[in-house]
Amino acid sequence: MLIHRYKWYFLLVFTISLVTSNTYSQVAPNKIIKVFIDPGHGGRDPGKSAVLTGMKAEKHLNLAIANKLGTYISERIKNTKVIYSRTTDKKVSLDDIANAANRSGANYFISIHCNSNPNKAIYGTRTHIHSHKFEASKKLAFAIENEFKTRAGRKSRGVMDSRQRGHNLQVLQYTKMPGVLVECGFMSNPIEEKFLNSEKGQDYIASAIFRAFRTFLENSNITVENRDNIYKVQIMASTLPVNLKERRFQKLDSRVEEYKFPGHTYLYRYMVGREYDKKLAEKLMFKLRKEGFKDAFIVSLKDGQYKTNRVSR
Ligand SMILES: [Zn+2]
Repeated sequence: MLIHRYKWYFLLVFTISLVTSNTYSQVAPNKIIKVFIDPGHGGRDPGKSAVLTGMKAEKHLNLAIANKLGTYISERIKNTKVIYSRTTDKKVSLDDIANAANRSGANYFISIHCNSNPNKAIYGTRTHIHSHKFEASKKLAFAIENEFKTRAGRKSRGVMDSRQRGHNLQVLQYTKMPGVLVECGFMSNPIEEKFLNSEKGQDYIASAIFRAFRTFLENSNITVENRDNIYKVQIMASTLPVNLKERRFQKLDSRVEEYKFPGHTYLYRYMVGREYDKKLAEKLMFKLRKEGFKDAFIVSLKDGQYKTNRVSR
């Protein structure tokens, strides 16, 4: 099969964003607000292990907190619908979580996790977002950390985005609605582990997130973030579809997506990543060049444009 690579132009589709990333849109009062809650891990993926005897693995703590949070939201905030990535102890892949959230048409995404560190002295909460450019995610994240600190007696370790972390969190990167990933505390800290395992502790955490979410809704209407204009790294173009099961794709730690560009000779384009920040896209491009895709380059495109359903894993 003939595979041609493009070197001769840089931007596939140059989209000038007329809508900034912090677009606010007022929504009719009776519109249902959908919240997608993701209790991290599950099934054969236990997440962080319990440390003290009798304590539970992360997947169980996440599920307990998520259930409480979902119940508070659906019972106490009018016109809300809660959707869960899982309600039992089962494994859902990161791809499936992001896809389910996107398909559900959720307005907000909240992922629940617990932390761990070799240093037992470390404790406290942290809320992750994809980018500080996203106003709604940022607002919600700060509201959550603020509740933890002022009402739930937690030590807040603040809000962090992918630039500060130096890596992406897949469920925040591939979901299209404002979203947060909450690290509810450190299981490696004996006091915090006991707290996270207690009914009272789980209640404190879930109520804090619930109150933050309610305050956020009251103060910001429904906030929509424009996540349509994205950067990706193109690693290959071809006249015919390429087998994504090949080792050179499978060995990458990023999934490869297939895009179709009708009317072009090189109909099939293979792309990696999903960034809103050009600097991060550049970082990914250099990484992919090192990993053997020497002609990798950045493209800017509208999300979903001509995308086929084929993904490398
Ligand atoms: Zn986790």
